[in-house]
Amino acid sequence: MPHYKVAIVGAGPSGYFAAQALQNSVTDELTFTIDMIERLPTPWGLVRSGVAPDHPKIKTVAKVFEKIASEANFRLFGNVELGKDLTLADLTNKYDAVIMATGSTIGKKLGIPGEELANSISSAQFVPWYNGHPDYANFKVDLSGKVAVVIGAGNVAMDCGRILAVDPKELDETDTADHALDLLHKSNIRKVFITGRRGAEFAAFTAPELRDLPKLENTDVYISEDEIALAHKNAQDKGEIEKHLASNLEAMKLIAETPKHGHERSLEFLFSHTPKEILGNGKVEAIKYSTPSGDVTIPCDLVITAIGYESEAITGVSFEKGKIANVDGRVSGSNIYAVGWAKRGPSGVIGTNKSDAADVVSLLISDLKEPKSNGDITELIANGHKIVDQAYWVRINEAEIAAGADRGKPRVKAVSVPDLLRLGQP
Ligand SMILES: Cc1cc2nc3c(=O)[nH]c(=O)nc-3n(C[C@H](O)[C@H](O)[C@H](O)COP(=O)(O)OP(=O)(O)OC[C@H]3O[C@@H](n4cnc5c(N)ncnc54)[C@H](O)[C@@H]3O)c2cc1C
Repeated sequence: MPHYKVAIVGAGPSGYFAAQALQNSVTDELTFTIDMIERLPTPWGLVRSGVAPDHPKIKTVAKVFEKIASEANFRLFGNVELGKDLTLADLTNKYDAVIMATGSTIGKKLGIPGEELANSISSAQFVPWYNGHPDYANFKVDLSGKVAVVIGAGNVAMDCGRILAVDPKELDETDTADHALDLLHKSNIRKVFITGRRGAEFAAFTAPELRDLPKLENTDVYISEDEIALAHKNAQDKGEIEKHLASNLEAMKLIAETPKHGHERSLEFLFSHTPKEILGNGKVEAIKYSTPSGDVTIPCDLVITAIGYESEAITGVSFEKGKIANVDGRVSGSNIYAVGWAKRGPSGVIGTNKSDAADVVSLLISDLKEPKSNGDITELIANGHKIVDQAYWVRINEAEIAAGADRGKPRVKAVSVPDLLRLGQP
């Protein structure tokens, strides 16, 4: 009976869904050993370090991941980084197939003057900072000014804007990293703009997230009714409005019509604002846009760009347009496959990665030849390197949850690698 070894690099949603697809493909004639390699001591990828802390329901998908991890043919190798602790050639030599599920973590740049000023940062820094990603635990965010501008018209921009605009009390019972929650409590930011380059009909927000905004207890949310009417008309002029857009525009209209309460905190959406230049002497003081009615300058103290992500380069893999070069998930001339954001780029919700990974795993299975029998990752990692296996991770997870229970939170995150390793120490 053929038995194959598959290495999955990256323990985010796409990595787990690839493992699940392999597990679902096991038959009397075909079995797999699945080794998942993750650079952090914590798995779950952006479910831990991307999804907003005030959206805890989304994170319950982690239960599915833990079920996959509990299967006998699955092993976790956390705290092991491809490119540092092992090479891709190490894996391709020892494994029948290698699935790259490494996501995309580098924030895209606007390419406009002033982007390098202090207090001009990226969602790729701000989000992992408030979510306690160890790489950003010491990142410095300056919330001493009054006005913040978030550039982008997708859910990541909305997350950044909302986290800055809500009363931090509303985050007290979430798993926001302690260092971020402390600073948000001291924040002077009271006015937040989210700006999109094109009209509202092109925005990539999703309706459920938009519908949550009028429910904010201490923040008034503004969208111009005229903008929405114009977007509706523009969309209608092109033919029948498709369902997703209709429901987005409906959700935006609801925001526009919701009575305002004169709260000190506000979140305002601006469309058809193309950033031209970030202005300031050493640090951000204003941002200049071109708009259909001419240039507009908004004085501000913080600019966050949330306009997409690119994959980080990994030696041995070729990248094009910010993602791993692949055709339908196959990396040509190799036993390497790509799934998730590393394959498609930064698009799609968590669930999108499930069907996508299943398709790639079908291709992988159709490519399998004679099984390899020359060992596995355990022979590759240096003696003494601390590997976070599933049992180790379960101890970290339980310790964080226990720390949260005392404070009415789902968990208190440890935010440095040494602290995480200490938490799970047997
Ligand atoms: C800010 C933000 C908020 C989001 N909110 C939502 C939401 O509310 N709902 C929703 O459905 N979707 C949301 N998404 C989208 C969702 O998170 C993605 O669809 C999904 O996480 C992509 O999965 P992935 O496995 O491809 O990548 P990732 O989740 O990024 O996982 C990649 C993993 O690979 C690891 N890795 C990278 N390089 C290496 C290496 N060299 N060696 C070993 N391991 C490595 C990383 O540490 C990481 O754990 C959000 C995304 C972002 C950015």
